[in-house]
Amino acid sequence: MSIQILSDVVVAQIAAGEVIERPASVVKELLENSLDAGAQNIRIEITGGGRQRIRISDDGVGIPSDEIEVAFRRHATSKLRTIEDLNSMLTLGFRGEALASIASVSQVTMVSRHRSEENGVVIQLAGSEALRRQTVGAPSGTVITVENLFYNTPARLKFLKKEATEKRQIALYVTRYAMAYPHVRFVLEQDGREVFRTSGSGNLADVLVATLGLESFRSMVEVDATLALRSSANIQMSVSGYTSVPRLHRADRNHITLFVNGRWIQDTRLSYAVVQAYHTFLMTGRYPIAVLMMHLPPHLVDVNVHPVKAEVRFAAPDDVFAVIQRAVRRSVVDLATVPAMRGPRLSDLSTGAAGAWPSPGLAQMPFEVEIATPGQRARMPLPAGQGKEVENDPTAIPVGPEAPSRPRTLPILRVIGQIGATYIVAEGPSGLYVIDQHAAHERILYEQVMEAYHHEKQLAQLRLDAQTIHLSAPDARLIEEHLSSLERLGFTLEPFGPSTFIVRSIPALLTDIPIEELIHGLVAELEAGHAPGQEAVEARIVRRICKRVAIKAGQILSTDEMQALIRQLERCQSPHTCPHGRPTMLHMTSEQLAREFGRLGA
Ligand code: ADP
Ligand code: MG
Repeated sequence: MSIQILSDVVVAQIAAGEVIERPASVVKELLENSLDAGAQNIRIEITGGGRQRIRISDDGVGIPSDEIEVAFRRHATSKLRTIEDLNSMLTLGFRGEALASIASVSQVTMVSRHRSEENGVVIQLAGSEALRRQTVGAPSGTVITVENLFYNTPARLKFLKKEATEKRQIALYVTRYAMAYPHVRFVLEQDGREVFRTSGSGNLADVLVATLGLESFRSMVEVDATLALRSSANIQMSVSGYTSVPRLHRADRNHITLFVNGRWIQDTRLSYAVVQAYHTFLMTGRYPIAVLMMHLPPHLVDVNVHPVKAEVRFAAPDDVFAVIQRAVRRSVVDLATVPAMRGPRLSDLSTGAAGAWPSPGLAQMPFEVEIATPGQRARMPLPAGQGKEVENDPTAIPVGPEAPSRPRTLPILRVIGQIGATYIVAEGPSGLYVIDQHAAHERILYEQVMEAYHHEKQLAQLRLDAQTIHLSAPDARLIEEHLSSLERLGFTLEPFGPSTFIVRSIPALLTDIPIEELIHGLVAELEAGHAPGQEAVEARIVRRICKRVAIKAGQILSTDEMQALIRQLERCQSPHTCPHGRPTMLHMTSEQLAREFGRLGA
């Protein structure tokens, strides 16, 4: 090919790739425009995950009729004139790229009326080409409709994520902006259904209730601190918002939401500052929920690092880190109470005595346990499957006959004792075994639950009445999408209102875990998605459940309990590792013992 200057359209399409990656990025850019226009009401309507249609209506200032075409040109902006303006940037946009990029890869219709004008203008474009322009009557503000995104760039279309993923991503953006702009009323409609709404009361707390649900919000504490930067004491930075008390936590950092001067940012280091503030308050691997607004002089934040502007650069990153950490720590320390360790005790699992519902533990773990009544002799629960309650429960797993018929995968082991309330020492025909009780129990539960799942046996369920749970709009979409596989795992959830579900039942194994924690655990696993070559989401959910309910390290077990545990481990398919791949046991063969003591060859 000879060298030629590319046409404007092709240049625009190539450049669009930087800003407009997916439907959610269109929503983000348009929302920013509406917010920059001073809108008080913003309505977002999405069809087909945004690929088919995105419509955003606002009551902002609108665009002057003689500027509407220019708005769609590349590098056309009303927000910046000189490069120095970047130092005092308080609008979300400034690059003048979004409308041009969007128009180059979709069919756009915009109706806008500037506040100072009598009439509005409607303009229609397809692939950057203006098709129509007309004067129309319209309320002041702007309505932009983006249809058939990427219709003229098939290569990009191929890389689009699933519709459900896109819906979720869009809901995430909308909820984030709603948090940053609590005085703006947002309504999000997906496929004709309202999924999220804020009141525009100006109160972040109201937005958080709409986003997280009242239950979770009750466990959030306010953060409100204005602190001087360490290296330049005359510069102040404020941090406000909410952060969770130590008893509310999540499995990943994605629930830490940060804004700088009204702009949502992604910053691993600053998220880490928030996590650091919880040092010693949270178990490792657990993360807080936080929504924090930082305000600092705009010249100390470089927002022009990335076309999407999700990353920013701070003039004094260490100072910012320290301020966030101190601000959050202050709120957490003020209110922190040491969380009570929750979790099922072995006795609850094995007798089912804790609640009226039979726990599958009764059927599966014939442990001898002490019953609470003092002076009463501990009883041996009936063998698997013969428990009266289980017989009466049509939903229980009929483990009885199956369990013994499973082939033995370990030799018969005899329990000798327990070390540090954590490891079981046992002896077998070929030497000494040290077994991690938690890992072993995890393995046992995992195989039992997965077997029931694969044979489409209904797991024993605990029915609940009137338990509702409110989720953020994105989390709700995710649950909705997986209702049937969750049902197969024993979670019966029924949509009830935009982002609320009635929890009808949960696996009986989980009776002792707070519903909130359970459902958020599910969300975290579903969020991780199912990539090719990766284990199915269901298996991961089961793994998580088993980890949570398995007996813990530090729990003293009776010899019979240990023996029962080992007996079940002996018949696991993969008795040597826990479902996470860590070893369940150490084995020292008789030969090794003999060698260590110098008896071999003697
Ligand atoms: P930027 O936001 O970076 O300036 P855009 O391409 O997103 O660039 O928008 C170009 C211009 O169009 C903006 O500077 C603004 O003047 C105008 N504009 C876009 N959307 C709106 C809107 N919803 N309300 C009012 N003006 C708008
Ligand atoms: Mg913009």
